[in-house]
Amino acid sequence: MNPTRTTCPYCGVGCGVTVEQDAAGAFKVRPDKEHPANLGRLCSKGTALAETLDHPQRLLYPEIHGQRVSWETATTTIASRFQQIIAEHGAEAVAFYVSGQLLTEDYYVANKLMKGFIGAGNIDTNSRLCMASAVAAYKRAFGEDLVPCSYEDLESAQLIVLVGSNAAWCHPVLYQRMVKAKKYNPALNVINIDPRRTQTSDLADVHLGLAPGTDAILFNGLLAWLAENGHTDHAFVSQSTTGMEQAVAMAKTTAPSVQAVAEQCGLPLADVERFFTLFGSTAQVVTVFSQGINQSSSGVDKGNALINCHLLTGRIGKPGMGPFSFTGQPNAMGGREVGGLANQLAAHLDIENPEHRALVQDFWQAPVMATGSGLKAVDLFQAIGTGKVKAVWVMGTNPVVSLPDSERVRAALAQCELVIVSDCVSHTDTLELAHIRLPALGWGERDGTVTNSDRTISRQPPFLPAQGEAKQDWEILTAVAHAMGFAAQFPYQAAHEIFREHATLSAYRNTGTRCFNIGAWQDLSAAEYDALPPTQWPLDAAGQGTVRLFTDGKFFTASGKAQFIAVQARLPHAVRTPAFPFVLNTGRVRDHWHTLTRTGISPRLSAHVAEPYVEIHPCDARDQGLQNGGIARIHNGTQHILVKVKTSRDQQRGSLFVPMHWSGQFSSAAGVGCLIPAVVDPISGQPESKHAVVAIEPYQATWQGFLISRRKIASLTEYCTTIKVENAWRYEFASASPMTDWAAFARELLCQDDGGVNWTEYLDTARQTYRAARFTGEQLESCLFISAAGGVLPARDWLVGLFAHDALPAADRASLLAGKPAVAGEDKGRTVCACFNVGENTIRKAIAEQGLDSVESIGRCLNAGTNCGSCLPELQALLG
Ligand code: SF4
Repeated sequence: MNPTRTTCPYCGVGCGVTVEQDAAGAFKVRPDKEHPANLGRLCSKGTALAETLDHPQRLLYPEIHGQRVSWETATTTIASRFQQIIAEHGAEAVAFYVSGQLLTEDYYVANKLMKGFIGAGNIDTNSRLCMASAVAAYKRAFGEDLVPCSYEDLESAQLIVLVGSNAAWCHPVLYQRMVKAKKYNPALNVINIDPRRTQTSDLADVHLGLAPGTDAILFNGLLAWLAENGHTDHAFVSQSTTGMEQAVAMAKTTAPSVQAVAEQCGLPLADVERFFTLFGSTAQVVTVFSQGINQSSSGVDKGNALINCHLLTGRIGKPGMGPFSFTGQPNAMGGREVGGLANQLAAHLDIENPEHRALVQDFWQAPVMATGSGLKAVDLFQAIGTGKVKAVWVMGTNPVVSLPDSERVRAALAQCELVIVSDCVSHTDTLELAHIRLPALGWGERDGTVTNSDRTISRQPPFLPAQGEAKQDWEILTAVAHAMGFAAQFPYQAAHEIFREHATLSAYRNTGTRCFNIGAWQDLSAAEYDALPPTQWPLDAAGQGTVRLFTDGKFFTASGKAQFIAVQARLPHAVRTPAFPFVLNTGRVRDHWHTLTRTGISPRLSAHVAEPYVEIHPCDARDQGLQNGGIARIHNGTQHILVKVKTSRDQQRGSLFVPMHWSGQFSSAAGVGCLIPAVVDPISGQPESKHAVVAIEPYQATWQGFLISRRKIASLTEYCTTIKVENAWRYEFASASPMTDWAAFARELLCQDDGGVNWTEYLDTARQTYRAARFTGEQLESCLFISAAGGVLPARDWLVGLFAHDALPAADRASLLAGKPAVAGEDKGRTVCACFNVGENTIRKAIAEQGLDSVESIGRCLNAGTNCGSCLPELQALLG
């Protein structure tokens, strides 16, 4: 069998992979050397894709109120309930909340059904949370949502400015491309602008650790400095832009001098001068921006502030230059193309423009077009909470975890009249609130296309059979459309038919005023669709893609010129107070994705960062009475989370960082969304997820422990994290509640079905230690280790390894409750290299004993860092 060419389903880099089944039936996922996004590379998540194919918790059948039903019952019930609610309350009472995980074909059909046939704008997407501000900034500047650059510009740049982007962990393959570019071009400079020093900072010549939220001041300062110091490209500005004078004048009001910028941003003057001088003196500059810019109450302005600098210097439309938004999700861009946001129409048309609405209505033969923008994500869930929206269909996403003010989102869904959730997994925090649950196909089963951050459209064909009765989202939507009476306008039998319609719309009455045009593909046959090579839109008449936009200095505004935006820099909405003296920043870790639904089932990916944590400066930790490795309670006055403490001087004083991945399925109280206020950018509607104000204090646990169990069990205590390990699940837990009888707790937990017949235990009252293990025959089924808070618990690795045995060897059984083998082996420590399972202790030891002095020498000695390369920044950090 030929390998299937597809793309990784995780992030917006959109790496190509090949998938092949070996003779034993096992799937091998390898990097696609020919895909232009990754050119043969993969990060740790992509490398582990085969491990997450066989998901243990698939949603397999449609259900209504927990009862299995037929697809016909499910779809006709949805249709009739929608029709009833629309008849009673109007079309605006129905909404879809979709996902950047959907394929473009799914997105297209969802958008068409909502905006043209239900007749409301109420379809929004979780992409709102990652890049809606970049969309709005591009639209304001260029007249259309257009990413000017290509990944190859990272290699031809002479200066890369990374702002609000921890690419080393969030876009690892692009980071690797930048690392390689710097290696082969020592003249390439990298500036990293981020309040937090991250793994990405290791690549930077200068790390500008600015005060949180001051990015627009910095870029306004740069704009004013460039204008004053002779770096204006006058020919480009006069021929291809408008609004320069107003933008520069406004910039000067907030950033009148380099000194003033340095003071407002909390930066050393020399560092700001170096950044400005490098930007001014380097022709080929790429400014990469991501969630650190976008997730802000002034994210659109921040985006325009940095775009302004490229317009002033004419650094756009040529190799190695341009403002480049890295998107978070694998198909956020595809969603943008088909109008998956509430304030867009399909094919980059404008929902507020009556002519555009008429064009799309005519093309779709739609009976009731939306008359304007719908509710953006945060507003949408608030409207569900107030009862204005009475029915919501959530597709492939988990808003109860990922949206700000998440407890209010949970409460809103809990009282909503009709909640429909389609997903490929059976357990998410959002699915728990669904009245109707619909099984969707997952990666490898679905058929369609995705678009990555540099406009490359790639195919994702199926290579696995459907599980249970799962269907692709467009099929489910089409069935509901038919049940609502729209069969003629939703005639789809296959994904390529939808793609052709999407392509045709992009060219429909497009006289060159709309950049997004893939009309050359409107007649693709099924075979041609299957063979579609990765291609960057727009296409010319011959079907050739476009590497770089604006090469002719023409833009897609009414004037044909790019628009400078006069940016009045604004600081974040929330302000520290004595009661809430810390700024809370949220983000991602290297080996996890979204709310852990996929990466959380991989032992390899779960090993790198096993537990949710807060990163805090050691002096702040000391002042707050927090211990490294202890548990912190972070609260905002109404909600709280419990996470492990990780002290680091990479964190500014007064600032905290907490990853956003942990849901209720994997932790008892680590969903950081509950602490984020529902404050959004007024234009993009994107939440300010990087800036909440909170207090932090020690969590006073009285006892602690861990359990390793072949069975997955429910959360144990108020602090509990669930971690997938080889052949079992590991639970780390602690409690502040008194516990008088640990043995009774253990038996209640683990021995309900057999009364503890195969049971061994050990209690040391003096040392306040309890240990127990349960066997099924000769096989270790679970082991539990508890101590008083602050007590010593054994290392986990050896114990986890015992679950590999079908029959536990006698020597290991004898040592089991001691928590270590009779002859102690090496504790490898925290996993650094996920590909070769190399731990921090092993690496430190090799560095010390063997005099290793480079990441290459570590690779030669231990293999670490020689496969996907995602751990290279951490190896470099361990070298000191
Ligand atoms: S960078 Fe990693 S997660 Fe992102 S698409 Fe590539 S392999 Fe997947």
